[in-house]
Amino acid sequence: MQKYEMTIDGRSVTADRYEEIRNPSTGAVVGLAPVGTLDHLEMAIAAAERAFASWRRSSDAEREAACNTIARVVTENAGELATLLSMEQGKPLKGLGAEFEMGGCAAWAGYTATLKLPVTVIEDSPSKRIEMHREPVGVVGSITPWNWPLMIAIWHIVPAIRTGNTVVIKPSPFTPLGTLRMIELIAAALPPGLVNIVSGDNDIGAALSRHEKIAKVVFTGSIETGKKVMSSAAPTLKPLTLELGGNDPGIVLPDVDMSKLVEPMFWGALINSGQTCGALKRLYVHDSVYDEVCAALVAYGSQIPMGDGLDTQNVLGPLQNERQFRKVIELVEDAKAQGARVLLGGEPRSGSGYFYPVTFLAECRDGMRIVDEEQFGPVLPIIRYTDLDAAIAAANGTQFGLDASVWGSDPAQLSAVAARLEAGTVFINKHAEIAPNVPFGGIKCSGLGVEFGVEGLAAYTTIKIINAAL
Ligand code: NAD
Repeated sequence: MQKYEMTIDGRSVTADRYEEIRNPSTGAVVGLAPVGTLDHLEMAIAAAERAFASWRRSSDAEREAACNTIARVVTENAGELATLLSMEQGKPLKGLGAEFEMGGCAAWAGYTATLKLPVTVIEDSPSKRIEMHREPVGVVGSITPWNWPLMIAIWHIVPAIRTGNTVVIKPSPFTPLGTLRMIELIAAALPPGLVNIVSGDNDIGAALSRHEKIAKVVFTGSIETGKKVMSSAAPTLKPLTLELGGNDPGIVLPDVDMSKLVEPMFWGALINSGQTCGALKRLYVHDSVYDEVCAALVAYGSQIPMGDGLDTQNVLGPLQNERQFRKVIELVEDAKAQGARVLLGGEPRSGSGYFYPVTFLAECRDGMRIVDEEQFGPVLPIIRYTDLDAAIAAANGTQFGLDASVWGSDPAQLSAVAARLEAGTVFINKHAEIAPNVPFGGIKCSGLGVEFGVEGLAAYTTIKIINAAL
């Protein structure tokens, strides 16, 4: 059985204990992950601190080159990493799966390399010159989830390196292998200590957030854990970027053209079997088109192949872990008991793996758990509305605020509804599209700060003003 190792200070570091990581499609052991300790974390933070002492003085060109190196390493090893990712996460190689995720890693790293945060001259007058510089913060602590483990690791690491910081990353205990291998490859191509990884249980994440030598935490995960990270970080007042859970609403207007929109609507909800923070998670459909929208989604969704990720026919995979599998079963059972009508799916698949079929539930209502909570699975509750104002109020009436969408044909009405939806991103006639040049983040309990673009990059810096008398 293949053992994966942590990488600290450019060297492979073993642990006393290893845990089996299993394929959620088959239950087979994929590999052994080291269970790091608080001592490993101290080693990693010390290495990152030493590396920071020189990396903070690196030139802009050196930082850009390091990010391009990351993009190259990821591209050169995309085949191996995609296969490992598919086996441990469950997502298929094909479709919007593991190969797509590796393509995203390379695209984000390459694009982020090109971003610049030049010195800004705020005032240049006969008596003074005031400049604004962007300084690195120090050692960045990164904590990642299990749904898009490699892409999210890249989202955290690359902007940190691009701005002169160093990194200690802690991957999810559900999906550590791909990140361990990717960091091993990346670290071998960069100066020692720039990127370090400590895998292990949740206590490593808590200790990282608390640590006085960690200058910033970038965390992607659930709202519940995000609150814990914020509280652990409070004594050291470290800046945070928190990308948290979503329960994205979509509003379908009476003039929707489903012949054009069924495909983006389906994938907006079902990408990664619904295990995506910014996926469409509750759909409000006008009464006049309710049956037509339901029928179109069912017709499209019933022919999408789901199964073992390494079978290239499949484009949807299982739930990643048993906890998530049980949660999806529980939410659907609760909805059925409350009067939801199953249009497609609705029962877990028997046999091996955490497979839950594509499921559409009609006659759902606000107040049902499947509507109010983040289901994070291949299940879409469809809610009937007659009054648009009430639908907008329901869409906005939660603690969530990651993305939202509106679907229809009249550009003026689409813009008017988009303006009233409360979310970090509002999509029109699509959902769950992200790009490295477009800032992304949640409002309300869905997050703090943004990633991507110049705004996302700036979050890895502090402002330093040089104010000179002339
Ligand atoms: P999670 O919150 O359970 O775990 C995320 C990470 O936090 C893991 O590495 C975990 O080990 C670590 N952790 C656990 N307890 C900790 C603590 N006390 N202190 C510090 N770290 C701790 O999330 P998950 O189940 O892995 O991921 C799913 C969630 O992530 C969903 O809610 C999803 O919406 C969200 N998510 C958000 C985004 C976004 O960009 N907004 C992207 C992906 C996933």
